[in-house]
Amino acid sequence: MTYARIWLAAVIFTIGPASSLDAQPRTAFPALRGVALTEFPRLVRLTDNVYGYEEIRAPGFTTVSLVVIGSNGILIADGQGSVQATQTMLTKIHEVSPLPVRWYVVGSDHGDHTAGNSALPKNITYTVSPASKLQLEKDAKGATPPRVVIVPPTAMTSNSEIIDVGGTTVHVLNLGRAHTGGDILVQLPKEKILFMSEVFLNRVFPAMRSAYPTEWVHTIDNALALPIDRYVPGHGFIEAPKASREELIVFKGALVAVIKEVTRLHTLGLSVDDAIKQANWGEYKEWFLADQQAAVAVRKVYEELDGKLK
Ligand SMILES: [Zn+2]
Repeated sequence: MTYARIWLAAVIFTIGPASSLDAQPRTAFPALRGVALTEFPRLVRLTDNVYGYEEIRAPGFTTVSLVVIGSNGILIADGQGSVQATQTMLTKIHEVSPLPVRWYVVGSDHGDHTAGNSALPKNITYTVSPASKLQLEKDAKGATPPRVVIVPPTAMTSNSEIIDVGGTTVHVLNLGRAHTGGDILVQLPKEKILFMSEVFLNRVFPAMRSAYPTEWVHTIDNALALPIDRYVPGHGFIEAPKASREELIVFKGALVAVIKEVTRLHTLGLSVDDAIKQANWGEYKEWFLADQQAAVAVRKVYEELDGKLK
């Protein structure tokens, strides 16, 4: 095949019979994706009553929440990073439904998903893993006004709970530790949607500050084994169903590659600082947050290799 023919085949393959989301560049950078920042925040319709909510936060990528609208109330999985951002999300949700928010699932306990939770109604029901409840308790003790950390009153007592969101069945799942250690996923079995919170960072360099690197890979395998059509990330863009599965596999590949590269450097006997300097991240160097998260990943994988990660 000549170069021209290969090029032509690539163009036809790329344009192909795909939805507009399938055809979008696979990246977490809004500019490369071709989406103007003025389009955010926005609700991405997944079904008649299920939405993803994409809002831009510093340093310029999306934080995603899940919104399920039942006949008698609304469930939100993951909030936004400030009271104002979560308030804006509630306003946006109420443009599509006047019903009250009645349920909230703590997918990630990190501040960029929970710091706005004091804007939520006071009488809602929280679902949180024991590990994330513990983390939020610690954060609440360390919080200085005006920062308020909302701590759910009770934690999950098993790895799976069912919530009836006014006729829509929601499964809340703990499939293993990953990005925070308290990671919770939200499955809609009938709609075959899985909101993965920060277990799935779409085209974002694996962020490992509080992660369990090897277990994270297994947790993604557990998610891939479920009968799911559409995987929704906690950061990065919401993809069309087919692309969402492909991208989850790509993200798992990034995790595996990062662990492999750090293991190589560890085996050479390098110090953490030298490993940070010498690491070769290949294509993942171009991913969002690579500049700030690469060193964090080296430290965390070293911790795991040295048996210091409990
Ligand atoms: Zn986050």
